[in-house]
Amino acid sequence: MKITDGIWLMDASGATEQMPGFHCYLIRDAEGLTMIDTSLPGRAESLLAEIRSLGFQEKDLKRIFLTHTDMDHIGNARELQQATGCLVYVSAEEKKYLTGEYSRMPGKAEMFEKAHFQAPETTLFPENLPGYQVISTPGHTKGHVAVLYGDCLFAGDCMSTESGMAEPPSPRFTENVPLAEQSMRKVSLLDFALWCPAHGLPKRHVEETA
Ligand SMILES: [Zn+2]
Repeated sequence: MKITDGIWLMDASGATEQMPGFHCYLIRDAEGLTMIDTSLPGRAESLLAEIRSLGFQEKDLKRIFLTHTDMDHIGNARELQQATGCLVYVSAEEKKYLTGEYSRMPGKAEMFEKAHFQAPETTLFPENLPGYQVISTPGHTKGHVAVLYGDCLFAGDCMSTESGMAEPPSPRFTENVPLAEQSMRKVSLLDFALWCPAHGLPKRHVEETA
């Protein structure tokens, strides 16, 4: 699904009017292709097929930016990396979930179980990423980031439109609800035209007047 010039919501990540999906986005930028998140495990082949159907080659995928490392975001990162050789970027705080330094919501661990999951090789987001602004948005997880590119704010799980409205992420899966709400307020003050969440369909950003 084309969002705007050079930006697609990957259909393979489950976006339909009926199903809000586990979305990832593809951006054609100066480096080639950049993917924001990678959806649930098991979808790497269809994501690669979709890249080809858009007229690109698999090797055009140069980078994956992970908003965080929950399974519905990191799910295909390793397979995509193996197929394309792309770099997979993550924040320093978020990487701690991969090294075992942090564990995600103890007690609900089965939902976030990574025991049999092979993580990709990750690279930390550099200070400066031309064209992009990586914004720290902790709350849902400790190292969550949102990514601003052009008119689009790739929110990951710092907001959701599953209900049709722009809302903070579900408290059930959010480590620090007040902090998550604060992070969503922080990004909502930025200048952009379109929220692009991982859960729910893209939605026009209404400027805060406060
Ligand atoms: Zn998610």
